[in-house]
Order: sequence, then C-alpha cells, then structure tokens
Amino acid sequence: MIINIVELTNHHQPMFNVRLHVIIYSILFFGCADRSRPIADANPYQDKVDSILNLMTLEEKIGQLTLFTSHWSVTGPTLGEENRKYIVEGKAGNIFNAHTAGYNRELQRLAVEESRMKIPLLLGSDVIHGHKTIFPIPLAEACTWDLDIIQKAARYSAMEATASGLNWNFNPMVDIARDPRWGRISEGSGEDTYLGSLIAAAKVRGYQGDDLSDHSTMLACVKHFAAYGAAQAGRDYHTVDLSERTLREFYLPLFKAAIDAGSGSVMASFNELNGIPATGNHFLLTEILRNEWRFQGFVVSDYTGINEMIPHGFAFDLKNAGELAVNAGIDMDMQGSVFLNHLSESVKEGKVSETTIDASVRRILTAKFQLGLFDDPYRYTDTLREKEVIYSEEILSHARETARQSIVLLKNEEFEGRKILPLSKSIKRIAIIGPLGDNKEDQLGTWHAAGDASKVVSLLEGVREATPDAEVNVVHGCGFTGDDRSGFSEAVKIAKQSEVVILAVGENYQQSGEAASRSELDLPGLQQQLVEEIANTGKPVVVIVMAGRPLTIAWIAENMPAVLNAWHLGTMAGHAIADVLFGDHNPSGKLTITFPRNVGQIPIFYNMKNTGRPFDAGNKYTSKYLDVLNEPLYPFGYGLSYTQFSYSEIELSKSTITLNDSLDVSVNITNSGDVTGSEIAQLYIRDLVGSVTRPVKELKGFRKITLQPRESRNIHFTITIDDLSFYRHDMSYGAEPGKFKVFVGTSSAETKEAEFELRSH
Ligand code: BGC
Repeated sequence: MIINIVELTNHHQPMFNVRLHVIIYSILFFGCADRSRPIADANPYQDKVDSILNLMTLEEKIGQLTLFTSHWSVTGPTLGEENRKYIVEGKAGNIFNAHTAGYNRELQRLAVEESRMKIPLLLGSDVIHGHKTIFPIPLAEACTWDLDIIQKAARYSAMEATASGLNWNFNPMVDIARDPRWGRISEGSGEDTYLGSLIAAAKVRGYQGDDLSDHSTMLACVKHFAAYGAAQAGRDYHTVDLSERTLREFYLPLFKAAIDAGSGSVMASFNELNGIPATGNHFLLTEILRNEWRFQGFVVSDYTGINEMIPHGFAFDLKNAGELAVNAGIDMDMQGSVFLNHLSESVKEGKVSETTIDASVRRILTAKFQLGLFDDPYRYTDTLREKEVIYSEEILSHARETARQSIVLLKNEEFEGRKILPLSKSIKRIAIIGPLGDNKEDQLGTWHAAGDASKVVSLLEGVREATPDAEVNVVHGCGFTGDDRSGFSEAVKIAKQSEVVILAVGENYQQSGEAASRSELDLPGLQQQLVEEIANTGKPVVVIVMAGRPLTIAWIAENMPAVLNAWHLGTMAGHAIADVLFGDHNPSGKLTITFPRNVGQIPIFYNMKNTGRPFDAGNKYTSKYLDVLNEPLYPFGYGLSYTQFSYSEIELSKSTITLNDSLDVSVNITNSGDVTGSEIAQLYIRDLVGSVTRPVKELKGFRKITLQPRESRNIHFTITIDDLSFYRHDMSYGAEPGKFKVFVGTSSAETKEAEFELRSH
C-alpha cells in the first residue's frame, strides 16, 4: 500500500492538499498497516511517518532538518522573501522567532498549501519565562521552591504562546550554574541538581500538558545539552572541562528529568566538553541521549552551533561540520544553513547515510504528528483565542503570585526600635531612588520574548497603588553605566524629605543573559556610591536589589538595615514588590544560588567537598583565603520571613537501615512570631566516607508549609537508597554502606543534624 502511494506520486509535482494527505495517511495507518514490519518503540505514528518519508526527495528531507529564524521589523513580523521561498520550496521545515496568530498562520499556509509535500511547520520560540505576560526570570522563580507555581507558570506561558501561533518552546533551560559571572545563570534554576531536576520536569509538564495535540500545549526543548553553565571563568561560550563523574552527578540529571517528563526535543549547547564541541559530541548526543536514555525525540543544534565547530577547531569546513553534527546525533540545524547547503552532497559522497537522515526526519515528523499539526495545521493560529488568552486576568494574577513568592528577604533589622519591614501603609512621604524605581523594561529581565514593557507594573506604580494617600517621589540618582553623578543631589534631597527611602538598584535587563558575562559583580555604574550617599542621610532605607544574578552586595548587607532581593520579576513586578514591602505578602523565597562575598570566592556553592584541611581558625595551613571568609554572603537555601520559625531536634525512625530500607526523618517546626508565614524546610544528607569523596551537604528533600502564629507542625521526609546513591569509584551508580549525616533546617547553613548508618544487610 505504501509503495502504491509512492508510485502514484511524482516527486516534483504538488500533490494533494493536507487534509487529503491525512485521509491517506489514516488509511495506511488504520487500514493497511503492514504487520510484519517491526514496530519501533511504541511510536503510534510510525506508519504515517513512513508513508510521508517515502514520498520525499532528499532535499525535502533535509528541509525538515532545517530551522530558520523569521524576520522582524520594529512594528512586528515581516515575511522575508527568503523565508517564503524556502518554505514553499520545502527547504525550511521549521521557523522560529515568529509570533502572532496571523503571521504564523500565513507561514503555516505557505507550508501546507504551497509546498509540494504540504508538511506543516514547527514554529519555535524562546518562551523562557512567559510569552506576553512575563513571569519572573527562571532563577527568581526557582526561589519559590514551589513546583505547582512553576508548573502553572509554564502552563500559562504555553497558553499565551500557542495562542500566538507557536507550537515549540526552546525551554526549559536546565544548565547548572555555579558561577554568577556567567550571565545565563538567570535562565536556569540555580546551583542545585535535585531541585533543578524537579523544576525541569515541572516545566515540561507545564508546557506539554497531558496531550501535546491540545491547542494550548507546546513541545518542550530541554537545553543546552550539556554543561554549558560550566564555562571557564564564567565567560559565555567558553571551554568546559569536567570529569565524567561531575558531569553525570551534577549536570546531566536535570536533562534526564526533563526527558523522563516527556520533553520532545533537546537543544545541543555551544560549548565544547572535554575537547569535543557538544554539537559534534557523539558521547553526549548518541551514547548518553539515545543509547542510555532511549530518548525518542529530536535534537536541534543551537544557533549556528554547527558552523561554530570551525572556529572551535573541530571541523575544517561547513560540509565537514554538518557531517560531524549529523553523525554525532544532531537532527536539526538551527540557522546555520549547513544542512541546507551541504548535506545532500555529504549523502551522495557516502559521508552521511540516508538512513541517518531518515531517522532524523522521522523524529521531526513524529513531533509534528504529536502536536496534531497534520490534523489541523492551523490549530495554534487562532486570532480570537489570542485576544482572549493574552494578558488575561487569570494569567496576570498568577504572574503576581509567582513574582511575590520569588522575592527573597535578605535582611530586616530594627531601625529606631522597630523592624523596618513591613512598611506601614500610613507612611505619608516615600522616596523611591535608583535606576529601577520607575523603570519598566528592565523588570522584564533577560529573554523576555514578546513581553511588552508598557504592560509592566513598575515599582513606582506598585507602591503608589498600595499607598494611595502617600506622596511618593521617584528619582533615578544615576544610571546603570557611566559616571554621571548629577542626579545625586536631587536623590539626597528627596530622601531627606521622606519618612522612608526605597532604593531600587541592580542590573538592567541586558546586564545578564546570553553574552552578558561580568567580571565584577558589584552594582554597576555609580549605584554603590548612590547607596552610600543615601545611607548618609540617616533615613530608614530598604534596599531592593533587582538583578539577573547574585550580586556582590557585602557593603549593603553589612550597612543597610533592610534588603530584599527582587531579581527581575516580570510584568507584575511592581505589585509583587509592593505586596512584600507593605506586608500584604510575607516573603518566603529562599535562594537557589549562593551569594558570594566577592568575585574571588567564585565558584562557590553549598555542595562543595570538605578537603583534607578544612578551615580551622587555629591552624594557618588549612583551606582558606587570607582576605575573605570561606562562607558566602548568603548561603544556598537562605531567606528570611516577617515571622520566625524554630526547628525541633531531628527524629529518625531508625538509626540503622539496610539497602532495601527507607528512613523516616521528622522535625517539628513552629511559627514563633506574630504573623502567618510560609517556611521552606530543607533536608540535606552527607555521606561521611565514600569510595570517592562526597559533598559536605546534598539537598534531598524540602517542604513548603504555611503556619499561623504559634502553630507547630510535624513534617516528615523519607530517605531512600536512591537518595544515598552516587557514581562510585568504578562509575557504577549506587549507595555504599557507612555512616551518614542528615540535616534539616531553614537554609543549607542553618540546620539541625542527626546520624544514621547504612548497612549492607
Ligand atoms: C541561545 C538559545 C536560543 C537560541 C534561539 C541561542 O543564541 O543560546 O538558548 O534558544 O539562540 O533563540
């Protein structure tokens, strides 16, 4: 039957329309499937996919492996002639950076009505923390430690993006980052593998839902595979050299978690890993991804990642780069035109087999079937839905909730006998000083997709709405760069006239993100001096640090009485910050990234090793710096509340477990303050002796609970053998008998502890 269709079709003539295609595919699939053929790993679209593949020329197959960016003008998308031509000729099977239902409908129309094979397009975009409604940057959102909130934010992002014609999201970005100099630290969930893996899976579930063919779900793309965040010296795109143990233990599990949650695609990273660019890395893309993990989806290169194997010094020309990429396991070329221009020649020369090309095409066609694009290529391009969904009340309200839960209270001390925060709503004169005070665009943070700055609630607007009777004055004082102090005197003047000063300082949205590494992590420009001038006024000051990464704010931490870390919180930033400032929301965010005291401490992260000479103040020859403490400014897991929580000692269900056992760990937590608050209790373990040394702490569980004043709750964690397992000396994965410590507490640095033993029997 399949052969008959091939015979019926002249490769060079437009065939039937897409609906007819579907009818014929359906007959092939449901009516006449050849049952003698082996069925590939439970792909229900296998026969349909094959029936299409059999009709395609090599050039059309390569077209499916090609992804081009769309063209944009200031006012919106424009359909470049080149794109139009490529789509119609079947040379570009996928487009990204295009959005709005109307525009994407036209792209889709070209593909399904004007190209010979009428295969619909994948339409991709970087919906990293929202499409139009922008949620907090991912690093901020992770500080909620709230998987429901995170999944829901991803779900809403997908609802908006799909209403705008998109069906493929270049997210979640799951790169572990231990170096805040690296600007892309803002795009991931921080330094921890355990928490990051849970977040990665939650995001995939949020984007893909239960049914990829639903018009409000989209294909996820977990990126950047792999170890991109380990760039030397935090410089973007820089070399990565990691042991296989560190790679597998810390960097890869997040990808595995996203794939286990169903992520339909993977993006390769720009970096080299141990001498081999990830884009040409057979070990990563085939041995691990396909052979070990049985990943069934497709792999896309990063933007011109294939071409970049030439400057990497790994490929001698573009054709060679394409061959290395395909043979390593790349299925789709993003923007490089390498496959388009060279792959057919490589096939003809026998450097790449057509079977390899076919396997890649099958994966991509399967994704298009899963998305329901063959049933209705226009299902994601509904202008009416676009109007209804985007910026809906429901989505904005979740953006506000996510944003306020992302805020981390770093410090809150007394000023004239009373804690500065929360501020009283009866304050009459408020000064907002700093470049982020009334700024909208920077609140959107890096990768803010189609986010519209005019929709952002600025800090000024948020504070004004929360305190309608107050006089709120705003002045920048200085910018993010340069050395213009001319605004200082006005800033000092309005500070002196006010009852309280809110200092809104940090980074603009371009000072973190891709290609935005920094070698100093102080407040950029003259902001530190501005802070000091305002401190000298003697007024009570709340510092709000808004940035895409941890900044080195040691002076502020020491000298200012109240500090909130508010990242870049997105569209509802101003309301969220005002909710926290005035006590409508009691902050509960906890850092998922360590804040260093200075750049010299980097890399610094909580799950370090102990060394043979752990620091001992009485012994010079122990591991330390002469000029800075070993401890960070703020540790992983840290964050204060307007109330206090006290922890009981830990209770263990047993003191000894065997390999098939589990252990119950419980503590009693009491809200010992006067207001209701939420606490994120964290559980860590330490394996005291191993065939390879183990970190001083490893996060293995957490609970977010809300307690009324004086309420207590017993919380339980279960430790299983899996929590105790690691890559042992021989690289096998498992636990080793011996003694373990278990810690439960309010941060990685402030915990109760107990000990138990794992026995082999
Ligand atoms: C980034 C990717 C992104 C791609 C497409 C690249 O520069 O590294 O994360 O998905 O561009 O926009």
